Amino acid sequence: MAGVRVYELAKDLGISSGQLMSTLKDMGVEVSSHASSLDAATADLVKEMLASEKAPAVSVKTVEIGPGVSVRELAEGLGAGPADVQRKLVELGVLASINQEIGADVAQKVAEQYGYAVKVTHKREHKEERTLRPQPKQKHGPRTIMRPPVVTIMGHIDHGKTTLLDTIRKTNVTEQEFGGITQHIGAYQVDVNGRKITFLDTPGHEAFTAMRARGASVTDIAVLVVAADDSVMPTTIEAIDHARAANVPIIVAINKIDKDNANVERTKQQLAEQDLVPEEWGGETITVSISAKQGTGIEELLEMILLVAEMAELKGEASGAVQGSIIEAKLDRGKGPVATALINKGTLKVGLPVLAGQAYGKIKAMLDDKGQRVTKAGPATPVEILGLSTVPLAGDQIISVSDEKEARLIAEARIQESRSDRMAASQRVTLEDLYRQIREGSVKDLNVILKADVQGSLEAVRQSMEQLATDEVRVRMIHTGVGAISESDILLASASNAIVMGFNVKVHPEAQRAAELEKIEVRVYQVIYELLNDVRAAMVGMLEPVFEEIELGKAEVRRIFKLPGGGKIAGCYVTEGKVLRGSEMRVRRGQEVVYTGKLDSLKHIKEDAREMAAGYECGIMADGFNDFQEGDIIESYSQKQVARAL
Ligand code: GDP
Repeated sequence: MAGVRVYELAKDLGISSGQLMSTLKDMGVEVSSHASSLDAATADLVKEMLASEKAPAVSVKTVEIGPGVSVRELAEGLGAGPADVQRKLVELGVLASINQEIGADVAQKVAEQYGYAVKVTHKREHKEERTLRPQPKQKHGPRTIMRPPVVTIMGHIDHGKTTLLDTIRKTNVTEQEFGGITQHIGAYQVDVNGRKITFLDTPGHEAFTAMRARGASVTDIAVLVVAADDSVMPTTIEAIDHARAANVPIIVAINKIDKDNANVERTKQQLAEQDLVPEEWGGETITVSISAKQGTGIEELLEMILLVAEMAELKGEASGAVQGSIIEAKLDRGKGPVATALINKGTLKVGLPVLAGQAYGKIKAMLDDKGQRVTKAGPATPVEILGLSTVPLAGDQIISVSDEKEARLIAEARIQESRSDRMAASQRVTLEDLYRQIREGSVKDLNVILKADVQGSLEAVRQSMEQLATDEVRVRMIHTGVGAISESDILLASASNAIVMGFNVKVHPEAQRAAELEKIEVRVYQVIYELLNDVRAAMVGMLEPVFEEIELGKAEVRRIFKLPGGGKIAGCYVTEGKVLRGSEMRVRRGQEVVYTGKLDSLKHIKEDAREMAAGYECGIMADGFNDFQEGDIIESYSQKQVARAL
């Protein structure tokens, strides 16, 4: 249908897509997504409506600004909070820090929303209207800013990931004032109409998952490239599973639409089969048709990335302690260890002592993705850093520390630790381990990666496994596929705490090596019921333990003795069975239970006793309870864990 997309119209109107969608809803127009098309009549109607709504807001109040005004200055001029102005800017598609200057046209749009007109003076001063309220002083907390999204490009080999990364880089980076010298540092940032996007430029999900296996989750959005002249391939599905396991939203780029044999509809159909139903079909997946080679659709793709980022409200703290991830590192003959860091929190600065995995040091110099020296880098800005003692690993966390000595001590301790116990440093995923983690209550899903020889057996095993699930423990298939167990399966398992199971398949030698390195258990079976038995056993370990109560005895409180320190001893008479020191106890007052806890102290005529039988008198105390009353009944009992069966 010809028309205008929601996000395009929103941009025209200077409001966020979200605002526009809610306006449309108020008008009774149903739209399913930001990418939905509106017909011209509806678009005109919205414009009219918004214009009439806005009209009364245009007032005589004016604010004078220079050609460039900082967010803070504008906020002061408008008598509004800077954070509020920033929010309005974000709605206009502008990400700006408080001290950043914004153009007069943008300032104008923001001012309008506060009922002000803007007068641009060419002197760098602005007068405030007498109607302006004085601003209370801003409180200082960690400064939160909207940060650029970090994007990873995934997809099957030859579907065009590298070409897409190159095209985006060429069309959005080279015209920089720095003359377009670009260098490969593992990530780059592009500028899309004043807003930034950070791309990790190692395409493919292996790098993504390897980082995650090290505990680094830097990616905010995954762009899945699928060639329209080919089809959804096993690696495409793998990439989808990897992104899903990491909870990262997926935007699909249907590539190579310039080719004669491109079939976008067929590609969409295949994506829908993977539960990536395109928005235009009523689903929730944003799909953009592109030609990475010819540059078609790239702008729209970038817009969509920003849209998803806007909805995710990615925030970063520009101040405070620095924390980030190493995304690439190498030893350079001339420069020594160089590493690319992507900052998550805080601002990395030259001279700052840092710790990154087993490496430490003071930042000697930093270079951005254009090869320019920079002195600081805020959230989501990739920078290459010099000055580390050794080469860290991709995925290592980089943090700022108080001084270099502290950094060295921690780094040395880490080196020692990894030498003495390599296993401890990495994650271990075995059936037994899962069993233990479940018992500790930290896991409730049995995450499985399942590979089988043929589709038929894969389905059979999968279904039988899923049938083992109970209300308490779910079997979560992180990824299933036909074929040998690959290195990528192992990385995914490591990143998502899953076990890898194979049915009638081989394990690739690289996978074997990776499994040893990552300490991932790989189990291969030839007989279904053996596989199911093992899964069942692991799940039984996952069930909440059930405790059975074994009653030991009862005692009645007959007198209360006050101790000099304020404590109370319940003088009791054992009426049934035995009461035991250290057992569980319950204090009943009539129908009510007033305390449950441990029976901490048991005395018989001032002497400590282990147990007291019926017919005897004793003194009972509990550390957590000092409110005994005459007539209370104390029950002593023990708990026994009962094995659970599925
Ligand atoms: P990757 O393996 O996913 O990184 O794929 P590449 O970017 O290396 O692309 C594989 C091949 O497809 C190369 O020969 C590219 O020139 C070609 N290719 C990539 N994008 C397009 C496109 O949009 N149209 C056409 N016709 N070819 C493309």
